[in-house]
Amino acid sequence: MAADGEKLSLDLAVLTNAKPYPSLSSRVMRPNQLTRFVLLSMFLQIGCGKDSIAHAANRAAGTARLSHDPSSAADGYTAPATYSGTDPRRIPHYFAGNLSPEARGVLRRAFGVVVPSHLYISDSTRGGLLKYDPELKRCSSCYVNSYRIGFISVRRPGESWEELQRRMPSLARNSFPRSSLIASSSVGSMDPDVQSEVTQMLDAARRAGFRIHVVSTYRSPEQEALLMHDGGGRTHTLTSLHSYGRAIDVRIDDGKLGNPSTRRDWIAFRRWVTRYRGNDFRVLGDPDQSWDWPHVELPSDRIGFRSIAGAVDAGRKCLSTESPHACEFQPNLPRVH
Ligand SMILES: [Zn+2]
Repeated sequence: MAADGEKLSLDLAVLTNAKPYPSLSSRVMRPNQLTRFVLLSMFLQIGCGKDSIAHAANRAAGTARLSHDPSSAADGYTAPATYSGTDPRRIPHYFAGNLSPEARGVLRRAFGVVVPSHLYISDSTRGGLLKYDPELKRCSSCYVNSYRIGFISVRRPGESWEELQRRMPSLARNSFPRSSLIASSSVGSMDPDVQSEVTQMLDAARRAGFRIHVVSTYRSPEQEALLMHDGGGRTHTLTSLHSYGRAIDVRIDDGKLGNPSTRRDWIAFRRWVTRYRGNDFRVLGDPDQSWDWPHVELPSDRIGFRSIAGAVDAGRKCLSTESPHACEFQPNLPRVH
């Protein structure tokens, strides 16, 4: 595992110049093959064009970032809407389409995805992200491990999520360099793009009467892994917006959900914050039902995939680089880390 500082400073500029399909045109083709190739190329060009725009939109903060998403079925893949959201029992609409062996190989090598039919988009709104469940969720109350594809984490390059899960029992404190275990409760350690918005939200919440206390803000991927290890293995922390400085954990009142007035105030805050400035702030679960009450996050359009086609396109590019963490969206963090 590379030290955290090393990960943050990776120069991924080469990613934007990578040629995604270097050998396709070098083959000799018969006329009907040529026609198919031209059509295919047109489709791919559409995807690449959008990709280039996405790259251009990435601000240069010393690191270029993994391109997010052409977000269309430009490669002819199944439309994302068919594998977005959940059914009435809250079971994800897992991907049921077909992928070429090449695309499956890209997903495996770039993002640790062994079984593409375990992929889904977490919800059907703009904020939905491509996730992977090593084991399928089969009932509304069943807990399964779930990972956001392309998020920075302690997963080693080339490692599958299943392999990481087998390695989890060894993810104890002494398995990480001390310098990599970073946890902050300061808004100043968050992504500079959201710091003032978070401060304004906290001020507005207090003005609205909520007794709110910030417990945690930025946590390094290693710290998240340690938290998961110490907390008994629930893994939603392993691919977290805390590691992008775009999530906070808060406590309302005395923080005790067993206290009816605290619970009432906490639900009211969660309703309030998800209405504050439209969809900027999100909570996990519902305002009155969650496995993670303290968590409030600020998703970013540049972090995470909105389609399998987008992940495959980005995977082809990041795999063509030498950088070991090129297939992770890189955080935008202040120098204090
Ligand atoms: Zn959290």
